[in-house]
Amino acid sequence: MNEGNTKLKLSQQDRFNFLCHIGLPCFNDCCSDTNIFLTPYDLFRMRRDSGLSSGEFLKRYTISLLGDEGLPLVVLKMSEDEDKSCPFVAPSGCMIYHGRPWACRMYPLFPVFPGEEDFLIEEEFSIAEKPSCLGFREEKQWIIKEWKTDQGIDIYDKMNESYKEITLHNYFRKGNKLDLERAKMLYMACYDMDEFRRFLFETHFFDSIDIKKMEIEKIQEDEEELLSFGYRWVRFSLFREDTLKPKGKAVDKLLQARREEYLASK
Ligand code: SF4
Repeated sequence: MNEGNTKLKLSQQDRFNFLCHIGLPCFNDCCSDTNIFLTPYDLFRMRRDSGLSSGEFLKRYTISLLGDEGLPLVVLKMSEDEDKSCPFVAPSGCMIYHGRPWACRMYPLFPVFPGEEDFLIEEEFSIAEKPSCLGFREEKQWIIKEWKTDQGIDIYDKMNESYKEITLHNYFRKGNKLDLERAKMLYMACYDMDEFRRFLFETHFFDSIDIKKMEIEKIQEDEEELLSFGYRWVRFSLFREDTLKPKGKAVDKLLQARREEYLASK
């Protein structure tokens, strides 16, 4: 947070003034020089709006890092211009507005820390000559719930909660770390969905899993189902949870065979 900004803790019923629109002199300023971490659902929505494959989108617009626990961290890559502007910002606003990520929707609300119900509202006052965020001076008022509804946050929260079951897993609390092979598997299943689809449908993946035909069809046709299945696969293959039921009892053999099949298909 920049010097001069203030933070106010909001209760669920507190009202705050905010409106961002094209007439404001500071319109688009917040879409530059910022770190935006992308969840798998962010990636899915942005990529869908961009019309690119997941692999191409990841390559062009993101930077992938590895966190301390070996978890992939995917960050939106800002442009190399002087302002370090977001690649999706245009004079008329966000070019992928319907697919913009969670952090952009939530602004100006920031979680105190993940999982807590309270939020901080951050107001940017001018610093030296820089224009400040004028959205806070608008008359429109909200409570947190109204803002989230207006910004279409519910589906993001739902999908992100499922992802947290991976990132906040007991496996990590016990001090474990993902090795590179496992981190790559997680990245593919959660972020590189076109690759994950190939992994499922261009190998004999489903021959070894006890799953209904109807469910397979849903995964094939609906990308949200594919992502949810990716989460289940990660919990099964990395943490040995019973989120999937292999046919027979040879779980290790199944995992090994699917990995080898996948690597051979590349
Ligand atoms: S994705 Fe859209 S809203 Fe978010 S920083 Fe980029 S231009 Fe702004």
